[in-house]
Amino acid sequence: MHIKELFKEKEVVFSFEIFPPKPTSSIETVYDTLEGLQGLNPDYISITYGAGGSVNNNRTCELSSLVKNKYGIEALAHLTCIGSTKSEINGILESLNENGIENILALRGDVSEGNPSVGEFNNSQELINHIKETKEFGIAAACYPEGHIESRDIEREIEILKLKENAGAEYLISQLFFDNNYFYKFLNSVEKSSIEVPIQAGIMPVTNKKQVERIVSLCGANLPSKFIKIINRYEHDKDALRDAGIAYALEQIVDLVSTGVRGIHLYTMNNPYIAKRITNSIGSILNSINKRQVI
Ligand code: FAD
Repeated sequence: MHIKELFKEKEVVFSFEIFPPKPTSSIETVYDTLEGLQGLNPDYISITYGAGGSVNNNRTCELSSLVKNKYGIEALAHLTCIGSTKSEINGILESLNENGIENILALRGDVSEGNPSVGEFNNSQELINHIKETKEFGIAAACYPEGHIESRDIEREIEILKLKENAGAEYLISQLFFDNNYFYKFLNSVEKSSIEVPIQAGIMPVTNKKQVERIVSLCGANLPSKFIKIINRYEHDKDALRDAGIAYALEQIVDLVSTGVRGIHLYTMNNPYIAKRITNSIGSILNSINKRQVI
């Protein structure tokens, strides 16, 4: 099933993101994560991809196949194009197709020293165009409520989003954020443009201070003062910080779905315990919203 169909059936699409185990660990190490997530009945699970030919990449296909074929959950395979040739991308598309994977999150990937901007693709739109020419996949793309780290110009980013939609992106998944106001401001700008595809909000429950510092350095998310207060207050108490992180994420999610956001994409960090606490807390809210028919 193409995931865009879910947005026609549901007012709020609720999904999880997981990452493949390290190459030194067996794929079975992720079984516990998947067993835990399966019972939570997400609408789909997305599986990340290491940019620039990382050895982990064949695991994205393997794990996507497990999600779809063993656990019976719709899978969204991430795919980055930076540093790749068309023939390499074709090989991956072929494997995904052979494994029955129907949905791809088409990404450029980060440009870095170990991942120079060589190859046959310059940006996500070129990858989307290529996928559309080659095989019949459902396609998602990324969006950045606070701007992309290479360009903080939101208006320009919205123009780029329009190019992604025109190329064939059927829905968008946002970068994580900790301040809903940035997301609402972003949605306002999107509404003023002629972008029509649904947008899912990316939410990450934070469980340790190092993780926050890493995230901020990678994507530049703003940290509201009440969030910083929580991190500083509980940084040395693992359980307290985990619970405070879950409570913070829940507050964000309840506010977002009550405001009419079309989807929540939970960055689970392969932690089914946290995903379970969040899913159980919002179950009745999602049921209530999704009982209403989407036209
Ligand atoms: P693009 O859409 O190509 O945009 C990248 C930059 O180029 C932007 O600044 C944009 O403004 C600019 N740009 C784009 N098109 C044009 C154009 N036509 N003309 C001029 N400028 C242009 N990374 C991974 O390695 N693996 C993953 O699994 C992964 N999953 C992700 C999931 C989500 C939901 C998100 C939000 C990000 C994910 N990333 C992942 C990170 C992503 O690869 C980086 O953020 C990357 O830097 C940009 O990818 P993109 O597809 O948004 O790029």
